[in-house]
Amino acid sequence: MRTPRPYDPTYDPLYAKSPGTATDYSPTYWRFHAGEPPADDGPVSGDIEADVVLIGGGFTGLATALFLAREHGIKAVVLEANQIGWGCTSRNGGQGHLAWGRLSRSQWVQKWGADVARRLHNNSLEGYEVFRAMTEDAEIDCEPHGEGNLLIAHSPKAMAGLEAESRLCNEILGYRTRLLTRDTVLNEYIGDQECQGAMLEPVGIAVQPLKLAYGYARVARRLGARIHTGSPVQNWTTVDRVHHLRTPGGTVRAKAVGICTAGYTSPNLHKLTAYKVMPIMANSVVTRELTDDEIAACGFRSTLLTTDTRKLRYYYRYLPEKRLQIGTRSAITGGDADNPKHLRVVQEAIARKFPALEGIETPFFWHGWMDISHDMMPRIVQPDPKQQVFYSQGYSGNGVSFSAYASKQLANLIAGKSLADSDLPIFSSPLPSHPLRPLRRLGQHALYTYFSLRDKFA
Ligand SMILES: Cc1cc2nc3c(=O)[nH]c(=O)nc-3n(C[C@H](O)[C@H](O)[C@H](O)COP(=O)(O)OP(=O)(O)OC[C@H]3O[C@@H](n4cnc5c(N)ncnc54)[C@H](O)[C@@H]3O)c2cc1C
Repeated sequence: MRTPRPYDPTYDPLYAKSPGTATDYSPTYWRFHAGEPPADDGPVSGDIEADVVLIGGGFTGLATALFLAREHGIKAVVLEANQIGWGCTSRNGGQGHLAWGRLSRSQWVQKWGADVARRLHNNSLEGYEVFRAMTEDAEIDCEPHGEGNLLIAHSPKAMAGLEAESRLCNEILGYRTRLLTRDTVLNEYIGDQECQGAMLEPVGIAVQPLKLAYGYARVARRLGARIHTGSPVQNWTTVDRVHHLRTPGGTVRAKAVGICTAGYTSPNLHKLTAYKVMPIMANSVVTRELTDDEIAACGFRSTLLTTDTRKLRYYYRYLPEKRLQIGTRSAITGGDADNPKHLRVVQEAIARKFPALEGIETPFFWHGWMDISHDMMPRIVQPDPKQQVFYSQGYSGNGVSFSAYASKQLANLIAGKSLADSDLPIFSSPLPSHPLRPLRRLGQHALYTYFSLRDKFA
């Protein structure tokens, strides 16, 4: 086995040319728990030709390779800078919920009206079934569990917001959500002491995310895709419609390229994706295994996906292995990622929500870069009809479930098929740019301060 290069926590996608070469995984619980990665095709060695190249070996690149092979007979080449699932795919909370981007369903109604919101919602239910089918595939073996998604109000005002959201879901979209009182949440689901009530969505599956990615990789390779790890695309030129993708071990020439690099996209990779998403850091801890007394004191009665309503929200769940996983937004720059204050923020949240766990050991702490779209909606597009270049990005922190459906649609686009719902906002336009691009990080400082005050007092 090749020895990976040490993981660099200070990597920052806004400034780095690529996310490294053959770098080790971030020290996540999932990596510890998943066992060894499946076989791959190693780094590119020598020049090669391919019909389709997918850049990025996370959920999106791997599942797109799987769908291209299974549904279109196209054997793609995946180029991954580091390891299978190295980016956000190995670092998330494993919450597979029904979220297309970051806007709530009431924001869909406000932005596009009830008809488009209803179509988006139906499209999301259809997409969710693509994800569900993947999680139920025995070869993928990602430990799916639970059915539902709990949104916990952190304040009485937030509960009023959930009541309105639930009404809209039920009455306008026909999506049967339920409101739960604080007592019901504490007695039947989870003893979060900050809870002021909750909205329970009927849909949502928890998975072991890295095992999901390993499963995608195994199936894609069995169907003929090649997965080259340790192969960052460091230079991209296009001559007579042929894309020349230079990696350290050789150049890959391809007729079509799918960009699946999400929050790890270098601004230098290609003009069509430069600065189209804002990389935002989120983090996660996993505690040591809890004792039976601690489990009883925290009222962990369910392993459902759980998120609170803060603007700087906490997402958490009680894992089947008797540990708590919880995370939130983190540093603004890569250079600040290791600042102990970010771990402290999560530890303080654990103590507020579950006082019996105050001071508990958190042997796993990691972070990753999410791809936040400037209008909070993802896109699966061929941004320029004259170029055989496609991307699926902008998941805005909700990619576990969405990436399965997005990959199926990206594979359709690359294979030249038209999409049934092509006028929906996730397909009909490229990702928007941001007019104040150079100042975005300054704005982020101000926003985080404002949001944390709002979360405290509203
Ligand atoms: C801490 C955290 C918690 C999260 N929790 C959840 C959750 O619970 N539920 C949810 O739905 N979503 C969650 N997300 C978001 C989710 O993980 C992502 O949306 C999803 O993993 C994106 O998958 P992807 O394949 O598109 O991108 P990634 O997994 O980020 O993969 C991109 C890959 O591209 C590679 N790459 C980049 N540039 C190059 C290049 N030049 N050459 C070759 N390779 C390159 C990178 O090495 C990387 O492996 C979370 C994210 C984080 C950071």
